[in-house]
Amino acid sequence: MTGPDTWLLDDVWLVPMDGPPDAPLGAVRRGGLRVRGDRIAGLGALRPEAGERVIAGGGRIAMPGFVQGHAHATQTLFRGLADDLPLLDWLQQRIWPLEHAHDAASTRASARLTFAELLAGGTTTVQTMESVRHTEVTCEEALTAGLTAVIGNCLMDLADGGVPPGLPTTAAAAIATTDALRRRFHRRDGRLEIAVAPRFVLSCSDELAHAAAAYAAEHRLRVHTHAGEHPAEVAAVRARYGRDYLEVLHDQGLLGARSSLAHCVHTTERERELLVLTDSAVLHCPSTNLKLGSGIAAVATYRQLGLRVALGADGAPCNNRLSMLAELRLAALLQNLAAGPGVFGAAQALWTATRGGARALGLDHEVGSLRPGLRADVLLFDLDDAALPLVADTPAAIAGTLVYAATERQLRAVLCGGEFVLRDGELLRYDRRALRAAAAAELPAVLQRAGLAR
Ligand SMILES: [Zn+2]
Repeated sequence: MTGPDTWLLDDVWLVPMDGPPDAPLGAVRRGGLRVRGDRIAGLGALRPEAGERVIAGGGRIAMPGFVQGHAHATQTLFRGLADDLPLLDWLQQRIWPLEHAHDAASTRASARLTFAELLAGGTTTVQTMESVRHTEVTCEEALTAGLTAVIGNCLMDLADGGVPPGLPTTAAAAIATTDALRRRFHRRDGRLEIAVAPRFVLSCSDELAHAAAAYAAEHRLRVHTHAGEHPAEVAAVRARYGRDYLEVLHDQGLLGARSSLAHCVHTTERERELLVLTDSAVLHCPSTNLKLGSGIAAVATYRQLGLRVALGADGAPCNNRLSMLAELRLAALLQNLAAGPGVFGAAQALWTATRGGARALGLDHEVGSLRPGLRADVLLFDLDDAALPLVADTPAAIAGTLVYAATERQLRAVLCGGEFVLRDGELLRYDRRALRAAAAAELPAVLQRAGLAR
């Protein structure tokens, strides 16, 4: 009788990210990490068991895989096609026409680009909002990629505000699409969840918003939406409803402990009270907020209020990277400016990128820290690099090194579900040149259909 494969990652600096709020890295120590199948079987002062396979860690940092709370796999094909525009122009002139022009093949190419890039950068868990159609393709590709994912087809039923005709559906059709995805994919392989994903207030009728909330409650699904991103969008919501953004979402039943809201850059005191009252999570996307000129979210304040916060790269056309290391660094830098140095510093940023993000997505029991029983999603960083601090021998120094100085160059290996997906800096599951070529072959027809051919 044989059980799951068991092996030992020996001689690493364990950064478990399982500590209390004031010391979130947990007990940093030199030791080993045992993997059994796709799970962490143990960590600490471990010795190889008889006949056990041992992989040398070489004194590298071993930390949990990153958890990204907000991304759009469907948009990765459009990277570089929508630069230097504010949110509503960015949507109306580029993103909505391009999303509408997707077919299944171009959606697949975009999803593959996305998941390869996420894994190469150490993101092993991601929540994404897809387009109105073809989300089943993205789900298939997430399962193939091997990461943990929360995926929702975007719900939109309003055609005003520059939305291309044919992109929105009826409210009933939007919910039916989510229902078909749920029946086929929800909890597949224990690592894919289907979420209910209204795009944002301006693209959903009250009827759709209420139906989405009821459907999510009935099936205990997560709700994933955008909120309070840009001043012009916030003003448009106020003009339409006579109330502030989160008040509208609250009245529609879309706030709650299973809800997560991308951005929340512009929130009033009353709206922050609603976030706390409903225990809704905030998904912070600092690069996007800067690139679209939206503002700086009050993440340090949200944390002080006890809110759950995750980080995300958002869509490739509004970033234009999908790098958690880039988001980490920017999140900490921006809060040093907004709230004062150290209020939301390196250790907090690292926590938000791992266990904090897992808590925001309700996945703390599966991913986000190094604990026995959790998925063996592990990053190995080599800090022996002339571009990094010469000494990183305390939790604070390790956090500072990873957040402020490290880049993907020092990320030498990524374990996803107990399997190496990146090793010695090489991506194993994907041929990135072939992915790029396949995506490039899809793009001209998409641009043609979108009316954006050059
Ligand atoms: Zn987004």
